[in-house]
Amino acid sequence: MSKNILVFGEVRDGELRNVSFEAIAFARKISEDGEITAAVFGKDGLDEAANEMIYHGADRAVTVQDEKLETYTSEGYAQAALAVIDDENPDGIVMGHTSAGKDLTPKLASKLESGLVSDVTDIEVTGDNVVFTRPIYSGKAFEKKIVTDGMIFATIRPNNIAALDRDDSRSGDVSSKDVEIKDLRTVIKEVLRKTTDGVDLSEAKVVVSGGRGVKSKEGFEPLQELADVLGGAVGASRGACDADYCDYSLQIGQTGKVVTPDLYIACGISGAIQHLAGMSNSKVIVAINKDPEANIFNVADYGIVGDLFDVVPKLTEEIKNLKV
Ligand code: FAD
Repeated sequence: MSKNILVFGEVRDGELRNVSFEAIAFARKISEDGEITAAVFGKDGLDEAANEMIYHGADRAVTVQDEKLETYTSEGYAQAALAVIDDENPDGIVMGHTSAGKDLTPKLASKLESGLVSDVTDIEVTGDNVVFTRPIYSGKAFEKKIVTDGMIFATIRPNNIAALDRDDSRSGDVSSKDVEIKDLRTVIKEVLRKTTDGVDLSEAKVVVSGGRGVKSKEGFEPLQELADVLGGAVGASRGACDADYCDYSLQIGQTGKVVTPDLYIACGISGAIQHLAGMSNSKVIVAINKDPEANIFNVADYGIVGDLFDVVPKLTEEIKNLKV
């Protein structure tokens, strides 16, 4: 199929989020022979990000620079995105199903009077037929969708579509588009980060999560050590957040973040349905719980019945030894 697809890259703190590269690979699956154009927005210094998008498979890139685009706002980014869409007139648009993607894309779809297939985890292309797979009922089932008419507009769940290998011998045109971003009705005065520095929870390949069984703020320290040796991020159940053991920004589940890492280690988490909604599609799930009847074992690939304060430090030591 030869369709021209526009991919929105997401720059945060000067760095492209990995899901931007996954979106290019996804666009290439939709359109083997068509042109993939990347669009990146920000305050300044976007050429590097634009070139990274090309190294990861885009054919060319468009940047929109404006100080009002320094931090994501739906109003500012929608103006930039609509101007680029107007110029490019793409057959399809792809973006990550991130907080920004979830906010921006319905707004764009409504302005463009287009449909939107959100939170896509897989795609099958046979001839002109593109079939999208997306989870429904909090991940308990999957539905398959096709777009019968009009533009293909999709958001993809991070960590499900493999990005193409980076190839810095690739080159393509990078152009800067002037867009007059009108005064924003909402102005970001300050961004207060509640998450710790390091690996982004929603894109992490390994997540070590703690529940009420962690028992205190300090109880999260061994989990952080395990996450560090595995190059992962720490998450939590709502039970742990409600008990003030950690910040709500770490919450995974129906009313928290949805993660699909390669490895999810649940420590002291019972496995309530609302928690499973955020992690049950992880590729490998390891559960550590004192209670052999805990529901989390029903979704776990590997279960360890034991006290997390014994098991987690031992795991960390073993992994450190493997790395020496
Ligand atoms: P508990 O259910 O109390 O489980 C603690 C577990 O730790 C137990 O299984 C226990 O055996 C084990 N344990 C205790 N000590 C140890 C030890 N030393 N070593 C090993 N294991 C130990 N929850 C979410 O997580 N995410 C959500 O997004 C979410 N959204 C919700 C939305 C709604 C509308 C509602 C009603 C609820 C929601 N919940 C959510 C809450 C959910 O129903 C559960 O209450 C919550 O997930 C329980 O957290 P928990 O597993 O940490 O705690």
